[in-house]
Amino acid sequence: MKKGLYIVATPIGNLGDISPRAIETLKQVDVIACEDTRISKKLLSLLGVGLNKEFITLHDHNEEVHAEELIKKIQEENKSVALISDAGSPLISDPGYKLIRRCRQENIYITVLPGCCALICALQLAGLPTNKFMFCGFIPNKDKGRAEAFEEIKKLKATTVFYETASRILKTLEVVKKIFGDREIAVAREISKIYEECLNGTAAGLIAHFEEHTPKGEMVLMISPAPEEEKTGIDLEEELRQRLQNKSVKTAVKELSEETGISKKEVYQIALRIKDEE
Ligand code: SAM
Repeated sequence: MKKGLYIVATPIGNLGDISPRAIETLKQVDVIACEDTRISKKLLSLLGVGLNKEFITLHDHNEEVHAEELIKKIQEENKSVALISDAGSPLISDPGYKLIRRCRQENIYITVLPGCCALICALQLAGLPTNKFMFCGFIPNKDKGRAEAFEEIKKLKATTVFYETASRILKTLEVVKKIFGDREIAVAREISKIYEECLNGTAAGLIAHFEEHTPKGEMVLMISPAPEEEKTGIDLEEELRQRLQNKSVKTAVKELSEETGISKKEVYQIALRIKDEE
């Protein structure tokens, strides 16, 4: 086997989702770079890959140092290294980017063995536009961070995709409700596992669902693209925000409804949301 670095995707749930080429590569390499040796050894055993090879961990706290160690193994000891993560595609919300960067600087042979990636599977399941999407990684853990992350993408005309955990999803959906109102969103969970499901609706609808059915498992949250601006050319929300600074809700709603032809009810709902945010 050629010395170098092999980026190998592993399953995100169903063991059968790894490719024969990936299994063969994992069998042949000398060294496995992984996040957690216990998780990886268990996976490799299930896949029938012998454990008589070297394991080196790679995570946020040691990536720089261990990357150098791996480079030395490839360059000086002529070894082949497979980079895997606990699940799915390495480097996608997982370690590896610094290692790849360093290997490229050193002109080390690098190849990728494609496979599962939760964000792609979630997009495939959700039925939201996929022609343009943006992956934003994990949602910040604090309400302020969450709100900032969502405000940033609010006007994006692309589907946005976030990784989330079951324990945080309800808090996140509350913030989504405040910021996106009735925008269509989707949550895909437990992809490729027994209880795989993808739920589409508004944030309020999904909150109601998860209040009845305790959220469980691994999740991907998707938010549909910002709607096209009204034909009037006015950015309704921005215009309302400005007028509400020195006018009553009633006056601002009446004026904008008359000027744009958009129903008072619709404008009023946006005004209420703005007031609520304040
Ligand atoms: N590298 C992985 C990939 O290729 O998707 C992602 C690793 S990231 C640390 C873990 C997050 O991915 C989970 O918190 C969840 O948001 C998402 N995820 C992983 N497996 C999943 C699954 N089977 N169903 C839904 N989401 C999943």
